[in-house]
Amino acid sequence: MPFTDVAVVGGGIIGTCIALALQQRGHAVTIVEPNELGAGTAGGSAGYLAWDDIFPIPSPSIVAGLPRMLLDRRGPLVIAPSHLLRMTGWGLRFLWAARPSAVRRAIAALAPLNRLAESALYDLARLAGAERYLVRETVLHVCRTAKTLAAAERLLPILAVEGFPAHVLDRAALRVQEPALCDDLAGAIAYPGSGRCTNPRAFGAALAQHFLSNGGGLLEARAIALERDADGWLVKIGGEALRAKKVVLAAGVWSGALMASLGYRLPLESARGYHLMLSNPGVMPARTLLFEEDHFCATPMEDGLRLAGTVEFASLETPMNPARADVLYDVAHRYLPALRRDSATRWMGSRPSLPDSLPIIAELRRHLGIVVAFGHERRGLTESGVTARCVADLVEGRPPPLDLRPFRVERF
Ligand SMILES: Cc1cc2nc3c(=O)[nH]c(=O)nc-3n(C[C@H](O)[C@H](O)[C@H](O)COP(=O)(O)OP(=O)(O)OC[C@H]3O[C@@H](n4cnc5c(N)ncnc54)[C@H](O)[C@@H]3O)c2cc1C
Repeated sequence: MPFTDVAVVGGGIIGTCIALALQQRGHAVTIVEPNELGAGTAGGSAGYLAWDDIFPIPSPSIVAGLPRMLLDRRGPLVIAPSHLLRMTGWGLRFLWAARPSAVRRAIAALAPLNRLAESALYDLARLAGAERYLVRETVLHVCRTAKTLAAAERLLPILAVEGFPAHVLDRAALRVQEPALCDDLAGAIAYPGSGRCTNPRAFGAALAQHFLSNGGGLLEARAIALERDADGWLVKIGGEALRAKKVVLAAGVWSGALMASLGYRLPLESARGYHLMLSNPGVMPARTLLFEEDHFCATPMEDGLRLAGTVEFASLETPMNPARADVLYDVAHRYLPALRRDSATRWMGSRPSLPDSLPIIAELRRHLGIVVAFGHERRGLTESGVTARCVADLVEGRPPPLDLRPFRVERF
């Protein structure tokens, strides 16, 4: 039976960064991953390095807008009718997490995590020679209406206090920055400390390649359960198993099933998102643009302009709905009138989503030796480096660089 110091279950961006961080500290690590190593959901993501995104999704204003959003089948949020019943518990927890006091606590938890996120990801990128895929830039959150701009402006004092200064651009200043945008926009919030990954799939592959070239192990298999062994854990894969002193579970939304094999029932849902990759877009913004009202990004990438976003709650088995990707072009075209969609490709991926918008990063108290890291929803690429640093500390029994209590399993 194969043996390793640490088995990392799931080789998406979170698992790959964790494996790399542990390897850097001298551990023998094997990743268990049935698909392309380092790609996962982040490979198709918007590539927005949103260090300053310290706000949870549940909030009083989102709750107020929910009925209108849910009635619009082409809007940024849909729930598959067959999934509605299953979503009840998740939905109730989401509403509970939207209380102002809970929102304040979530910000207080996310801000320290994200303050370390940039340096932690750059450290791993440098280690793997993948820094060329990361760009520092001022991302613009574009607002169509004065009402949205004013609401976004109200967040600026919170951002400033937490160390993420941002400022308002009026309509004229926005036009100067991004002349390709239409002229009936109210303005934007400029986030000078943000960034972008110009090819998330190649970035993850470069991290994975560095891990493998330095003796990292890969078991190309799907873990089906985690079981206790005499002096560690067994990662069960079909009839076989990988023995490990410690296990890190980082299988994104699929972590739910493996947690269930240990007896944990978590409200982990797949918030599916789509992208439309335009290799010949006809217009290229100078930076990442996020469209506040329509909840999607336009990100300049190595191979074209990527429109990415929308949330669709549906079961993991539901096939992708191409219309959800196509709607991204229809909406983006209203902002960028010269946009073309020749040779567009569609993609769908699953954000691992917990109702309070916080990830789980913790050692399991009832299963010492298993550290879990999943549920990063829309910020997994952004928070991958800092998560890896925290997990490496948990595996080694060292104090992590920030208070991880808000990210414990027991909150559910
Ligand atoms: C449309 C869209 C846009 C996004 N934009 C951004 C963005 O701009 N910025 C940002 O920071 N984040 C963004 N995200 C979120 C980000 O992609 C996710 O948070 C992140 O990919 C989660 O990483 P993960 O490694 O936890 O999970 P995943 O990437 O889902 O990886 C999980 C891995 O586990 C493997 N696996 C599954 N089951 C098993 C098993 N049983 N055994 C072993 N392995 C298993 C899977 O094959 C997969 O490789 C976006 C997501 C979407 C959908």
